[in-house]
Amino acid sequence: MNFDLTPEQDQLRDAVRALGRRYGHGYFVEKAKAGGHTTELWHEAGRLGYLGVNIPTEYGGGGGGITELAIVCEELAAAGCPLLLLVVSPAIAATVINKHGTDEQRKRHLPGLADGSQKIVFAITEPEAGSNFHRLGTVARRDGDDWLLSGRKCYISGVDEAGHVLVVARTEDAATGKLKPALFIVPTDAPGLTRSKLDMEILSPENQFLLYLDDVRVPADALVGESLDAGLPALFAGLNPERITVAAMGAGTGRYAIERASEYTATRKVWRGRSIGSHQAVAHPLAHAAVQVELARLMIHKAATLYDAGRDLEAGISGNMAKYAAGEAAALAVDTAVQALGGAGMTTEYGVATLLGAVRAGRIAPVSREMILNFVAQHVLGQDKSY
Ligand SMILES: Cc1cc2nc3c(=O)[nH]c(=O)nc-3n(C[C@H](O)[C@H](O)[C@H](O)COP(=O)(O)OP(=O)(O)OC[C@H]3O[C@@H](n4cnc5c(N)ncnc54)[C@H](O)[C@@H]3O)c2cc1C
Repeated sequence: MNFDLTPEQDQLRDAVRALGRRYGHGYFVEKAKAGGHTTELWHEAGRLGYLGVNIPTEYGGGGGGITELAIVCEELAAAGCPLLLLVVSPAIAATVINKHGTDEQRKRHLPGLADGSQKIVFAITEPEAGSNFHRLGTVARRDGDDWLLSGRKCYISGVDEAGHVLVVARTEDAATGKLKPALFIVPTDAPGLTRSKLDMEILSPENQFLLYLDDVRVPADALVGESLDAGLPALFAGLNPERITVAAMGAGTGRYAIERASEYTATRKVWRGRSIGSHQAVAHPLAHAAVQVELARLMIHKAATLYDAGRDLEAGISGNMAKYAAGEAAALAVDTAVQALGGAGMTTEYGVATLLGAVRAGRIAPVSREMILNFVAQHVLGQDKSY
């Protein structure tokens, strides 16, 4: 068992940390409040090769794995810049296209994802289907060589920043039967594709959208893979990277919050010259949160290692557990940090309450804590499926 990062991974972590700190949480909040995006940070991370660490070198990436991408996600979040689109574009979209796309799709899309000049977002969630993706209602119909896509998607992150969206649909002949999903790479400016921004109570420069697909016409080569049979494996290919990187983002956010609070409680004095951190009622909750974050980090490391070793089934279990643990730990850490900071905890200046919405959402998305518990109950504890 090895808990050490390789020297290259160590260097990556230090370099990403330095980049994240140069921008910092103030930058993230300023962009979010102004309705802007973290474009400068994204492009600089892209130029430095951090967005493509998991993409093969032949397409301009770093040739690493999800371990490396998780390091990028964690360190940017630990610097106060939790970028959800890292989970969507390099983790989900790049993995799906790399593993299940055609040669032509790899050549067309991966270089742009690797250098950050392109983003591809991911649309699976639908208003009627929710957590039950077997109920997906977005349908793909053949029309000559083309496909026509119709349906509705909700909570789709970053559509306004992306050139393409990876849409999960069901083919018409399977519309009433068992779900046979198909994935399509759809330009975000395709005729018939419209969006409306959702008002979310999350302070973030990244936005969520409702998407309406009204007979969106895409050519045959928009279908991910050589045939419809690629759909289900392609969809599953994105799940482990998604869970592991979103967990890493949660762990980084937890670290950030605990660090802010610990700096404050070590120096703030309101009783007889002693720091408030000397009171165990203040220090113990922070220490408890630090333990939870560190436990989550261990599970993230295990899940990423298993995934990069090609042990997908085991990575599925660890990845789900890591996502659950990190989601809970991040929410606990931010809430505990706010409490430890007192009134300062609720100010924008101290930069902790600004994360409350994001960490709360991390217990719901991209997969809810309940659906992970269902998965663990069924696949680890051998319980009957209850739903
Ligand atoms: C900030 C944010 C960003 C997002 N980004 C994207 C994106 O980019 N692309 C995308 O496709 N989607 C995205 N989503 C959607 C997200 O994946 C869904 O919100 C999530 O999967 C839950 O689905 P739902 O909201 O429809 O909840 P529902 O399915 O309606 O569930 C509601 C509640 O019931 C619980 N529940 C449902 N079924 C069961 C069951 N069988 N057993 C126990 N409990 C159950 C759930 O856990 C949840 O607490 C995003 C969501 C958020 C909040």
